[in-house]
Amino acid sequence: MTTTPEMPGLFLVRHPLVQHKLTLLRDRDTPTKIFKELVDEIATLLAYEATASLPLSPREVETPLERTTGMQLAGKKLVLVPILRAGLGMVEGILHLVPDACVGHVGLYRDHDTLRPVHYYFKVPQDAGEREFFLLDPMLATGGSAVDAIDQLKGVGAKRIRFLCLVAAPAGVTRVHEAHPDVPIIAAALDRQLNEVGYILPGLGDAGDRLFGTR
Ligand code: URA
Repeated sequence: MTTTPEMPGLFLVRHPLVQHKLTLLRDRDTPTKIFKELVDEIATLLAYEATASLPLSPREVETPLERTTGMQLAGKKLVLVPILRAGLGMVEGILHLVPDACVGHVGLYRDHDTLRPVHYYFKVPQDAGEREFFLLDPMLATGGSAVDAIDQLKGVGAKRIRFLCLVAAPAGVTRVHEAHPDVPIIAAALDRQLNEVGYILPGLGDAGDRLFGTR
């Protein structure tokens, strides 16, 4: 993963497979079925990088030949938390790698009139303070939803949170890190900017609509 002095909390996954799949994802002609598969595959590859710093603990194991000390993921099960609805597209891909992970959910949207976040669903395991959280949303645009979701996770005691997205905008990265400098962002790309209605440019369009065929 690469980082820059300007955005030290942003980790970009530059792996050739990730970049190749991301380009297919950006293509407006990529159909829903392939789009879903690509999100799934990129999520797996991002998770491979994002899990690289998970803590380990030793574990004794009997091989067919002798006893040895191996390593295992330490502590309680990892929690994946998709931000509804587009974040759901990243869950299965990560579960391929970490099948024992728990899955929480955060549902929120921005009220068109007040522009304030409306929280309509929140469920994560109890004992949040003892777990590692991967918060998932394919697009980090303005950063508003990410900051709200992190606020909610911290509100129930979560201390170790990573944010995984496919495409980030500079404004979103800055907003998350101003509010939550302790939350690393793992992304496949840092795009140029937001347009006047908050879409990422060049981006890939509305990730939720493209995932669920509601375009
Ligand atoms: N959400 C999306 O789905 N796409 C964007 O470009 C920005 C926010």
